[in-house]
Amino acid sequence: MALIVQKFGGTSVGTTERIRAVAERIVATHIAGNECVAVVSAMGDVTDELLLLARAVNPAPPEREMDMLLATGEQVTIALLAMAIHALGHEAISFTGAQVGIVTDAGHTKARIQEVRADCVKDALAEGRIVIVAGFQGSTPEGQITTLGRGGSDTTAVAIAAGISADVCEIYTDVDGVFTADPRVVADARKIDVISYEEMLEMAATGARVLQLRSVEFGRNHGVVMHVRSSFNDLPGTIVKEADASMEQAIISGVTHDTSEAKITIRDVPDQPGVASQVFSALAEANCNVDMIVQNVSEEGSTDISFTIPKEDLVRAKRTVETMVAHLGARTWSVDESIAKVSLVGAGMKTHPGVAAQMFTALAEAGVNIDMISTSSIRVSCVISGEQAEQAVRALHETFGLAEHEVYVETAPTTGGGN
Ligand code: ASP
Ligand code: MG
Repeated sequence: MALIVQKFGGTSVGTTERIRAVAERIVATHIAGNECVAVVSAMGDVTDELLLLARAVNPAPPEREMDMLLATGEQVTIALLAMAIHALGHEAISFTGAQVGIVTDAGHTKARIQEVRADCVKDALAEGRIVIVAGFQGSTPEGQITTLGRGGSDTTAVAIAAGISADVCEIYTDVDGVFTADPRVVADARKIDVISYEEMLEMAATGARVLQLRSVEFGRNHGVVMHVRSSFNDLPGTIVKEADASMEQAIISGVTHDTSEAKITIRDVPDQPGVASQVFSALAEANCNVDMIVQNVSEEGSTDISFTIPKEDLVRAKRTVETMVAHLGARTWSVDESIAKVSLVGAGMKTHPGVAAQMFTALAEAGVNIDMISTSSIRVSCVISGEQAEQAVRALHETFGLAEHEVYVETAPTTGGGN
């Protein structure tokens, strides 16, 4: 017997037929002798529709009220799913995020989980029931309803799994797992069988949309084994867990791309101490999430600064930069909204030199110009023109042989003799 958390995303519960299919899957897991907790998203595009409703009455809705509205999406699904399980002759009980004790800070629309008091989940399981929990939502210690940011049901599932020490957190979605590249872009992209938290974090942060970044952070911090798999078939998906010696070490695990950011360049900023500090403090103040930053070599006492931010922060960022340019006496500034970031992720990079060079060569051969570069110990990212994103991803996937399941085997030191 295992204790299993199963999370079903919007597409998996998009219609009442799908909800019945999900109910059957949960009941099958239960009948097999497991204790089950299901965490669900809002049906289909409900969250997007609720956002449209809000914007129709107020272009800048108060965030507290936005959470009040958005939290209703998941509440519909939990009730319907519990009903569907009852119809199959099994006991299920649904709970909202507040009811199960997902305690968050007050950062409405992107709240962070502070504590999980899953007592009512444990009690209901002890009574032999199947427990259904609304994803994406929580409440502040004062009882205000909050939401966890888009895709937040993944994080709810992992948080509940950590809170009840589940054996595994299964994330059911509309794809078969985590792929070496977006399968819509690369026809021969391959499903990854096992990936470390470290690599999954880099992939989620650079455009792999299959898991919310925070859910992977939470999983890593609490050692929750995650299994990303399809709700449309029974194939094994991708296991996300701590790297260990038994894991195959691919040099490169995947290529990701992200077209959701824009680039801002400020030209001829005085090259003096404190300038970057002022620019980026002002952006932080305006709640703009800066990603890559490049500052050029100074010429004649002035320099250019470029950085990327999510397009959704652009209105606030433009306002801030405009003020900063005047304040610092910079010459001018510009925005480029048609950029893409392509990234190569792989733990083998740490011990395998030349990956960045090979990436730049592949991009050059594909006629792709590199605008900005940033690296971590297991990732290289390049900002390029948005129109060339797909071409670049295909070139990199090909160059690094990702379709062929290339595995990098650490060669044992040749100490001679022995076994
Ligand atoms: N329903 C929310 C969203 O669409 C949360 C989720 O699905 O994970 O972002
Ligand atoms: Mg999702």
